[in-house]
Amino acid sequence: RKGSVVITGASSGLGLATAKALAETGKWHIIMACRDYLKAARAAKSAGMAKENYTIMHLDLASLDSVRQFVDNFRRSQMPLDVLVCNAAVYLPTAKEPTFTAEGFELSVGTNHLGHFLLARLLLEDLKNSDYPSKRLIIVGSITGNTNTLAGNVPPKANLGDLRGLQGGLNGLNSSAMIDGGDFDGAKAYKDSKVCNMLTMQEFHRRYHEETGITFSSLYPGCIATTGLFREHIPLFRTLFPPFQKYITKGFVSEDEAGKRLAQVVSDPSLTKSGVYWSWNKTSASFENQLSQEASDAEKARKVWDISEKLVGLA
Ligand code: NDP
Repeated sequence: RKGSVVITGASSGLGLATAKALAETGKWHIIMACRDYLKAARAAKSAGMAKENYTIMHLDLASLDSVRQFVDNFRRSQMPLDVLVCNAAVYLPTAKEPTFTAEGFELSVGTNHLGHFLLARLLLEDLKNSDYPSKRLIIVGSITGNTNTLAGNVPPKANLGDLRGLQGGLNGLNSSAMIDGGDFDGAKAYKDSKVCNMLTMQEFHRRYHEETGITFSSLYPGCIATTGLFREHIPLFRTLFPPFQKYITKGFVSEDEAGKRLAQVVSDPSLTKSGVYWSWNKTSASFENQLSQEASDAEKARKVWDISEKLVGLA
């Protein structure tokens, strides 16, 4: 049978390019888990994906009710789950004030980390039940985890501190909207959320890899300077960023190339090692990358896991 993969945020950018790359192999059925049904439908169509290769299902990661609803709907569809890709994200670098999810968590960490945390925790059961030979759970990371790159050191740097803001619920009322308890900074909130993504992947690996055989992985696909992720940025930035990445940092990758990379992490028989953060070198060969000190801190990973469980209502 075909493999069955859920990809969050498959309506644009990396998620869409990955869906397209997998659909073209004819070996995958893609469940596009998206907040905007029509946008996803148009995107799939304009990417030339054949109808029999995908299903669109509604998922708004900024609402835990919606996450639970998605899981119910998915189970009712009786499709198997062989691979889950947590890809969707918001990035709000110019926001002066925090905005919040339905449950009142700061939007970047609430969507990118907490929404995916609940989704992945619930769907672990479905992955376990699959009879697919190589089951995988992938959480898309970012360069903030690379200490061996310039871009990973551009301020404001990610820093989860002692997690006091997360502990307090990130609601900006009785706690800060930032994980470390500091003043709101949209760019930092995004980077913090990506560190949580990478910590979560490793904690999943430690807790569940041996028992389930599931491969847990993360990746940095390269700088895809053209995606919607930068839609909230100032216009000058949006004009200059792609050529800057292309000609100055040379970190630029096209959406197509990045999609092929994530598709490899989904399906390539040589990328089955669990607990790995994949990156690609200049000749587009994959390698196991090192994470920054904070993004590989096992004690912090456990704490983020425990607090997140409480915030999403699992503990
Ligand atoms: P895009 O903005 O193009 O895609 C993000 C996707 O997430 C969109 O489909 C968007 O939906 C979806 N999304 C946002 N909020 C929600 C929500 N509440 N519920 C459901 N879906 C939501 O950005 P990219 O493709 O660049 O980003 C994809 C991933 O790649 C992210 O995890 C990002 O951190 C990572 N990444 C990107 C890099 C880059 O250079 N672009 C570099 C490194 C990592 P909609 O279409 O409705 O807006």
